[in-house]
Amino acid sequence: MKKTFREKVLFSFTKTAKKHKWLKAPLMLLMTVLLAVYYAGLKIAANGKRYSCALLVFLFMMVSSSFSTTESLTGQGVAPTEDGAQLAAEQEVDTAEVAVIEADEDVLESMDDVELLSEEEIDTYTLEEILENNSTYREMVESAPADTAVDVENTETDFSAYEFDPEDWRLILVNKQHSIPEDYEFPLGNITSSLQCDERILEDLLAMMQAAKDDGVDLIICSPYRDYNRQTYLFKKKITRYMNAGMSYMDAYKTASVTVTAPNASEHQIGLAIDFYSSSYMRLDEGFENTEAGKWLAAHSYEYGFILRYPEGKEYITGIIYEPWHFRYVGVEAATVITERGITLEEFWEDL
Ligand SMILES: [Zn+2]
Repeated sequence: MKKTFREKVLFSFTKTAKKHKWLKAPLMLLMTVLLAVYYAGLKIAANGKRYSCALLVFLFMMVSSSFSTTESLTGQGVAPTEDGAQLAAEQEVDTAEVAVIEADEDVLESMDDVELLSEEEIDTYTLEEILENNSTYREMVESAPADTAVDVENTETDFSAYEFDPEDWRLILVNKQHSIPEDYEFPLGNITSSLQCDERILEDLLAMMQAAKDDGVDLIICSPYRDYNRQTYLFKKKITRYMNAGMSYMDAYKTASVTVTAPNASEHQIGLAIDFYSSSYMRLDEGFENTEAGKWLAAHSYEYGFILRYPEGKEYITGIIYEPWHFRYVGVEAATVITERGITLEEFWEDL
């Protein structure tokens, strides 16, 4: 009669165990393991299809999850590197900047203008410099009535019942969730030969600077308009910098998008945002709010159609940290409503 595998194992076990008594315990263990493996193998063989399906599904999930990350990155037009991940593991990331950013990462708030803080060749212009070489603007400012600003005491400038048009170019919402429409066009106007913004906001911008000057406050404009290429350049430059510090491409991309507004998500790209300096404070940081210029803008910019776009305490709505220097043109009506109600452009759009 043919012996089964189990019987064969049992037979040889008893034979050896009888010969060498001291081998009994280890042999018992060996036999148990052997039989367990054998029967497990039999079971897998009998259900081969089922197990290989499960294995395939598992492999598919692993592969697709790693691909989806790579795709979203390459979609931005920057080639990822293969050895990036290894670099990150091997080298120590050791810049103060990276540390600060990573600490903030869970909030995912960017600074729209962070790149201007450190490295850039920043163009700045005072009202005098703007008017110096441009007779049209000089006439524009000089011919304007003494006070073109909105008088909030005046009931005629109560815009609470104003009918806003969502198609109004002045109200366009641009942020991380609402990128600039591909077909968006606007007339580019020159503030100076190297300084540009949407032409349609020039008159109010100059009127505001003149009014500030009349109040003894000097406003200095810096780098208001950045085109797509410039925004992309700044973004890629950040990625390179983080990678040089030892980050993988993926980590560098993630960190860069926290600090620099990704291309097509910045108001600077559509010429409606202006960053201001003051001669006494040539830095773009929170300290600007305590300067005469910062205080004047916070109090009066809406009278000329500008809003403080990223207010303090609203970071969770705008996704951008408090920027007391960054002003966005929305027109006098919307600016008045937004300022009086103490809301953001995002919240204004909710009711539109
Ligand atoms: Zn800005």
